[in-house]
Amino acid sequence: MRRNSRRIASSAAGLLLTFLACTSDAAKSSRSSGGDDSPITVVIDAGHGGHDRGGIPGQRVAEKDMTLDVALRLRNILSASGYNVVMTRSSDVYVPLAGRVVIANSYRNAVFVCIHFNATPRSGASGIETYFYSRDSLPLASAIHYYVAGGAPTENRGVRRRGYYVLRKTNIPAVLVECGFLTNPTEAAYAQAGSYRQKLAEEIAAGVRRRNAVGSGFSTTRVATAESIPMQPYIDQTKVTSSKKSRSKGSHKKSARKKKSSSKRSGSEAPARSSDPEG
Ligand SMILES: [Zn+2]
Repeated sequence: MRRNSRRIASSAAGLLLTFLACTSDAAKSSRSSGGDDSPITVVIDAGHGGHDRGGIPGQRVAEKDMTLDVALRLRNILSASGYNVVMTRSSDVYVPLAGRVVIANSYRNAVFVCIHFNATPRSGASGIETYFYSRDSLPLASAIHYYVAGGAPTENRGVRRRGYYVLRKTNIPAVLVECGFLTNPTEAAYAQAGSYRQKLAEEIAAGVRRRNAVGSGFSTTRVATAESIPMQPYIDQTKVTSSKKSRSKGSHKKSARKKKSSSKRSGSEAPARSSDPEG
């Protein structure tokens, strides 16, 4: 009996050692395939450009100009931090979506960050939302959203899963950030300030740097940590800000959520989607 239990204990210890060895190998290989201490390429995609102004017809602030400016600022920040940075465009030119994907897919050990701003005829719509498609992209999406939504004085619209072309066709972790609504007077005013665009770029950069920290260190309503986010375009996968959460407890929560998602449906998403296939 005693000997048996000793044998069990020693085989359990063996298993434990094997397990530790495996996890440490896994940790090593995950580091070498894109961890924080390995050189990584960041492909930055400024939405729209050239004849493609972005947004909706009649929109005063051109989305293509805002996306390019944030993208160039992000390039400067990441380059200064030692990242290899590639731009799908660095001037006011039109690059087809397929061309952007080809650029992204020509890099290994890379991530793809698409920068957009939202638009809708309903001027009240506001906030930050972050999209991903492949499961591999969820940590990057969560980290970027955590920082951008946390740093912006505006609504947190959550991390969402949607099959945008540039997210679906890329082989590397890919995220599309909607940095606010240019059709909302307040957010448009923010976006037109260079200091605000700099702040957006810095928060996106922070998300890129901390992309592998999601799920371990973060415990917040601003990130999506579940591996089971369904493909439901209009459902807010994350969560609401803590102030909202406290306002909508119990039975109110359900109706508040319902209300929120239906207002999105009628307001921003459908029109924005039809006029702006890439956000
Ligand atoms: Zn866009």
